[in-house]
Amino acid sequence: MVDKKQSASGCSTDKGLSRDIVKAVDARRNWAVELLCCLVNAETTLGKEAVGQAIMADLMDGMGLVVDSFDVDVASIDGQRGFAPPVLDSYAGRPNVVGSHQPQFGTIGRSLILNGHIDVVPPADAALWMTQPFQAKVTKDKVFGRGAADMKAGLVANALSFVALRDLGYAPAAPVIFQSVIEEESGGNGTLACMARGYTADAVIIPEPFGQTILSAQMGVMWVTVIVKGRPAHVLDTSAGINAIDALFEIMQDLRALEEEWNRPEVRHPAYKDHRHPVNFNLGRIEGGDWPSTVPCSAWMCIRVGYFPGADSAAVQEEVEACVRRTARRSPRLAGAEVTFRYAGHRAEGHAGDTSAPLLQGLAAAHRCVTAGEPAYLASTATTDSRFYALYAETPATCYGPIGGELHGIDEWVSVQSMLQVGQVLAHFIADWCGLERTKPL
Ligand SMILES: [Zn+2]
Repeated sequence: MVDKKQSASGCSTDKGLSRDIVKAVDARRNWAVELLCCLVNAETTLGKEAVGQAIMADLMDGMGLVVDSFDVDVASIDGQRGFAPPVLDSYAGRPNVVGSHQPQFGTIGRSLILNGHIDVVPPADAALWMTQPFQAKVTKDKVFGRGAADMKAGLVANALSFVALRDLGYAPAAPVIFQSVIEEESGGNGTLACMARGYTADAVIIPEPFGQTILSAQMGVMWVTVIVKGRPAHVLDTSAGINAIDALFEIMQDLRALEEEWNRPEVRHPAYKDHRHPVNFNLGRIEGGDWPSTVPCSAWMCIRVGYFPGADSAAVQEEVEACVRRTARRSPRLAGAEVTFRYAGHRAEGHAGDTSAPLLQGLAAAHRCVTAGEPAYLASTATTDSRFYALYAETPATCYGPIGGELHGIDEWVSVQSMLQVGQVLAHFIADWCGLERTKPL
């Protein structure tokens, strides 16, 4: 174990060790940037995660971890709390990759899971990117590319914390489990499957790109597909038909009103009381009709619905459906139309933590060691996989990741300096949370 004494800066890591960690991570800069580029160049959109997971499995093997590469077993998670109805038909050949470290000389400290997702969202419009979205571009302090920030730099930072300690001749004196999961962006079944396989620890950290803030709360998220069947007709008399696309617009207008209702200050969760607009409904996909001169017979839209921590997903589903049914009853445009719902993907409940919890305090101390500043806490309007451990495994879980920009946008980027700092903060955290044992350098 390493001596601990709280310095005036609020850093509880031994000063000499703290300096060594910072240097050891900095010395891995080229290694880290190369690894990040390699991961960005792997086009790991939904269904194609295997190419990135092969890199992660090799990496974990090189780190001396016991590597467990396994496909999500739907039977093991179906019906469990937090399960998301899968978007794709099959999990075959799209593994989660987990690497486990066990201390050589027995467990002294507390165990830790460092989680990150390998999947990325599609590039939106590749033609608008300055380079190909899946061809990493490096400038002085930035790496550009889809997934660079969200969240391949986080996966690199997780590894960096461990290899830098190993470079110094240390290893965590408690189990540390590295998870590279699939499907964070579409439902979270990757992390849920890790939990179902028995991977637990005393805390979970996910380096999502939240600008080196510490996540203290996150919103719930549900994907709802509304399907309308109307009646086709020749446009010479549009009144003879029921326009399914017009119907969707009408439904969406009422859902927008519901969104504002949920944003009212008096009904907010306290973690979001000062937020500008925490509940966001996003009409993310829409399709319908088959001919410009025919009143469209069928149409569907997929909406991402946000909701506060504490709200139950079944209750949210009921409220959204009730809103749509009210529109169907009220609007002459929908008279005679058939409205149904489909659920695939996110069914994520929100959660809010306590900033005085040991995990968050430990991360704050590690942040101070590296930056000499106070960390900010973030109540996020998005979801992350931290919810599974926080809500369903009674395990403290949070996020602390690098500074990045244009997440899900064009020319997504991450700061290299910030990625290195996250690696340094995580290494400090490991030193204090897990303790350290002497080992051979990698
Ligand atoms: Zn992410």
